[in-house]
Amino acid sequence: MNMSVPETYGSLVFNDKVMREKLPKDIYKALRKTIDQNTHLEVNVANAVAVAMKEWAVDHGATHFTHWFQPMTGFTAEKHDSFISPVGNGEVIMDFSGKELVKGEPDASSFPSGGLRATFEARGYTAWDPTSPAFIKDGTLCIPTAFCSYSGEALDKKTPLLRSMEALNKEAVKVLHLLGNTEVKNVLTTVGPEQEYFLIDKEDFKQRRDLIFTGRTLLGHMPPKGQEMEDHYFGSLRPRVAAYMHDLDEELWKLGIPAKTKHNEVAPCQHELAPVFDTTNVAVDHNQLTMEIMKKVADKHGFVCLLHEKPFDGINGSGKHNNWSMTTDTGVNLLDPGKTPAENVQFLVFLASVIAAVDDYADLMRLSVATAGNDHRLGANEAPPAIISIFLGDELTGVIESIENDTLFGKSQKVEMETGATVLPHFFKDTTDRNRTSPFAFTGNKFEFRSLGSSLSVSGPNVILNTAVAEKLSEFYEALKDVPAEEIADKAHDYIKKMIVEHKRVIFNGNGYTDEWVEEAEKRGLYNYRTTPDVLPVFIAEKNKSLFQKHHIFTESEIDSRYEILLEDYCKTIHIEARTLEDMVSHQFLPAVAEAIDKIATLALKKKQLSESLTCKTEKTYIEQLSEKYDQIYELLQVLRADTDKAEGIEESQKMADFYKDVVIKDMENIRAIADEVEADLPEDVIPYPTYAKMLFYV
Ligand code: ADP
Ligand code: MG
Repeated sequence: MNMSVPETYGSLVFNDKVMREKLPKDIYKALRKTIDQNTHLEVNVANAVAVAMKEWAVDHGATHFTHWFQPMTGFTAEKHDSFISPVGNGEVIMDFSGKELVKGEPDASSFPSGGLRATFEARGYTAWDPTSPAFIKDGTLCIPTAFCSYSGEALDKKTPLLRSMEALNKEAVKVLHLLGNTEVKNVLTTVGPEQEYFLIDKEDFKQRRDLIFTGRTLLGHMPPKGQEMEDHYFGSLRPRVAAYMHDLDEELWKLGIPAKTKHNEVAPCQHELAPVFDTTNVAVDHNQLTMEIMKKVADKHGFVCLLHEKPFDGINGSGKHNNWSMTTDTGVNLLDPGKTPAENVQFLVFLASVIAAVDDYADLMRLSVATAGNDHRLGANEAPPAIISIFLGDELTGVIESIENDTLFGKSQKVEMETGATVLPHFFKDTTDRNRTSPFAFTGNKFEFRSLGSSLSVSGPNVILNTAVAEKLSEFYEALKDVPAEEIADKAHDYIKKMIVEHKRVIFNGNGYTDEWVEEAEKRGLYNYRTTPDVLPVFIAEKNKSLFQKHHIFTESEIDSRYEILLEDYCKTIHIEARTLEDMVSHQFLPAVAEAIDKIATLALKKKQLSESLTCKTEKTYIEQLSEKYDQIYELLQVLRADTDKAEGIEESQKMADFYKDVVIKDMENIRAIADEVEADLPEDVIPYPTYAKMLFYV
């Protein structure tokens, strides 16, 4: 490919530039208005856009179109229709109407709905989201859409996200106007998700049933060398990996995804990709696409891209950092402290609102990153703890403390001018002070939510962030809306102080990996939900239900159904893992142990034949030890089997999830503990699948 990057970039996207070129002026304007101001789209506009879109897509080799949506499975879904339309005489034309662009009716009965969609009403519908551009993938025009039931309930991850962006927009604009910033018409949230992943050889992958069925290894002994040397982090890229990343960048750029940085991560075979941030809605779509393209390109290079949160025990898993901020249509980042944050009332209102939001809704934030896979990471000294707290850094903490204590920020460093005036020190962005152990860190002009697992859609965490902050802004507005303009700065200052006093307990700048922090957090009354089944019930807690309903994010039945879907997803995940482990142990691992015993026994017999005086002491000990563990594993396997059967029979989903967590997972861990020890003692040629050493150090 000889095209230059600027030429390649976005070449498969029906973006603003293409729209301006291809659409009649009045149509372009009308569409722009719909995109920017969320206005209703007229039928004639939709028709004209559809024609232009189809022509552009066909010019770029597309034969099909699909409504591309994000059901609750966490993946993206698509159903392809071709553009062809018979016109008699055995001929066809390529056709696409406004109606087809705007609305689709996929048979949706197989997508999770948590009971929302009764089976007799199997239809769902997809509705075009004009704020996220259409693109071409594998010869298909993909149209980003929201996915709802026929009665209008959200069945996807996009609908609530758009609702939450709208809620934040509404409340933020009210607050800005109250503060005298009346130019602003819109506030958008922005996100830049950093994505971690593993690359392993496809041939190795194919031989591991655990990776195939569950995405993670259920057995596997750590090799003598793990990640302790930290020689992989930011190390130079091996040629095969570099070639992969090069291809990946190119594919992403074509789709208008601004992939920016790439590097090796801490664990062997682990890497990271980060794009330039975008509006939340687009960033979520792009991240879903990025994960898909990562896997596809890996396949071409003989790799498999693992996005599971914990593919290998004993070495770091993969996460995703959700960098988040708010920006106005006048181009101001509302979390940019400016040079003198202590005097920047607007910044402080937004900062304090985020702090208050995270404190009051830390339970929902924890919920938003809860998955069976991520339970292996949070609190395991490789990812932030399950306790949600905020890292502000020294400078900003100083600002906050000075407001709380009514002292002038920077007094200790004050510079006395000849006139005697006090000069405030300039603020330095806290970009160097990087506390990796904090789940929610201020990094200069944005917050970085670091608890997300690598395979998660970033939609959920952003729904929570946007909604919780919208709520705090709304409270601020309600409290101050009748204050006269000349007093607003003073009254805002008092309110900021009140928020700080009430919510400063959530600020923690220390090491989040320590046991002392767990104790301290408990004293402060912060939430600590260790596992997914522990935290899921907060979804249906009264305080959270009313938050969602007040801001029109979820209806009561949407909340109940989502809670149900999350429970189901957890149970299914552990169930599949348990059954896969059973399968591997009974069909592969125990036979391998038997083979090893047989080998050594045969050797001992041969030695005896050779000479009666040979003792075969080592062989005996080896066989005795291995036989004992063979028996133990066999017994534990029966326990796992019985417990998994039992779990399946539990009626109530929360109880079922708790049982998987408390009993089935423990059964699996018990088997693994012995099996991994045994694996270390087995002759290499009997081990029935590639070992950790082979998978992680030979790529
Ligand atoms: P790091 O040093 O952690 O790589 P960067 O400043 O490069 O930090 O940013 C990491 C991610 O944060 C990138 O995806 C970047 O685009 C994103 N980011 C930067 N500014 C913002 C913002 N205002 N809103 C959302 N994301 C942002
Ligand atoms: Mg980061």
